[in-house]
Amino acid sequence: MEQQQSVIAVDADLCTVCGLCVDHCPYGAAEIDDDKGTAFINELCSICMSCIEICPVEAIKLTTLVGQANRVNIADYHGVWVFAEQRKGAVQSVTYELLNEGRHLADTLKEDLCALLLGHNMGRQAEELLYYGADKVYYVDDPLFENFQDDPMVATVALLCHEYKPAILLTGATHVGRSFIPQVAVRLKTGLTADCTGLAIDDSGTHLMQTRPAFGGNIMATIKCFNHRPQLSTVRHKVFKPAERRPDKKGQVVRVPIPEKGKVCRTRFLKSIEEVEETVNLTEADVIVSGGRGLQDPKNFKLIEDLAKALGGAVGASRAAVDSGWIPYSHQVGQTGKTVCPKLYIACGISGQIQHRVGMQSSDVILAINKDPHAPIFDIATYGIVGDLFEIVPALTKRFSKGA
Ligand SMILES: Cc1cc2nc3c(=O)[nH]c(=O)nc-3n(C[C@H](O)[C@H](O)[C@H](O)COP(=O)(O)OP(=O)(O)OC[C@H]3O[C@@H](n4cnc5c(N)ncnc54)[C@H](O)[C@@H]3O)c2cc1C
Repeated sequence: MEQQQSVIAVDADLCTVCGLCVDHCPYGAAEIDDDKGTAFINELCSICMSCIEICPVEAIKLTTLVGQANRVNIADYHGVWVFAEQRKGAVQSVTYELLNEGRHLADTLKEDLCALLLGHNMGRQAEELLYYGADKVYYVDDPLFENFQDDPMVATVALLCHEYKPAILLTGATHVGRSFIPQVAVRLKTGLTADCTGLAIDDSGTHLMQTRPAFGGNIMATIKCFNHRPQLSTVRHKVFKPAERRPDKKGQVVRVPIPEKGKVCRTRFLKSIEEVEETVNLTEADVIVSGGRGLQDPKNFKLIEDLAKALGGAVGASRAAVDSGWIPYSHQVGQTGKTVCPKLYIACGISGQIQHRVGMQSSDVILAINKDPHAPIFDIATYGIVGDLFEIVPALTKRFSKGA
């Protein structure tokens, strides 16, 4: 099937260079080319089409390119970039996980691993990223990046990708990542695979294989972006292990000024309001004891809570337990719940369907308790106990309780 791509184009013969489109474009995508005597639409265009409506002489039109539309020469693109998400000046932990995975990809490609940090007064943190595997850190320091605002971030990341041409850009599937990276993909006219659970380079050594659950989580799909670059992926927190700090790692911080076009911002930051703490902080827990439909009754979650308490851990649950109304959604582990990576994950009466496994399979040690010896959870368990949870869980609680 031939590729099609919509673009906004200015008819130079009709354009009167009135500048209305320049004033009106919310993305700073309309410019005047003084030499050619015409307006033109630059790479910041998000095809909102407001310029088409405003143009008094109908010189601006939506055009469809067919065939090699927006194909790039993929040989021009090199290296793996990790977007170093920061909040209030603190680099977020998902960044270290992406650096770890990014290092594997960069080593396979035999290319550089780079971090991209947008912040303000974060020179020390930029240096620090080098110790976590980055060969280079591109650091853009500007007050606009002190708090998250889409517009300058989207424009700056897109423009830097145009300039430096990374082959791969990995971003956390966080609220920030999910908000801005799809807009970057539109600007760069490239593909984005969201919520990846696995990343690898294909046998040709060229394309990124991006694996994620598809069709309601019933299959794992591996997606490749053949003709466009960079290859954009988001990855959830805790899917990969974090990179370890290596004090001997050398690298370079490259300070990049914010591009002029990156300063366009339609929003004004007023204040941030901290979300009320959830009762469970599953994603940070070292030990999680989870219960599933095998518990048979909501009151039996007490067994899970008691074992979690004895181990100083948090309580998790399968979706079946949550959907049955036995425990609130904030406890759900899995594809549509939380992704966790504790040191110890104990699955009690959970069959281990793929949608549950994608949320916990990177745990250091997995102990499964299930009366069915063929339950899929045993395929990924480090230790398995085949038996009745109503006997085994209280016995473990007794064993681990203080003074037992
Ligand atoms: C789009 C989509 C998204 C989803 N997202 C999630 C998600 O985020 N998280 C999630 O968990 N699921 C999710 N699911 C649902 C998932 O497919 C499973 O249905 C669910 O995980 C099953 O939960 P369970 O293992 O508790 O129940 P079951 O599959 O019914 O398993 C119960 C297990 O308990 C065992 N058992 C029963 N009695 C005992 C006993 N006395 N002692 C020991 N073992 C016992 C049984 O042998 C069985 O293996 C999703 C599904 C879809 C389609």
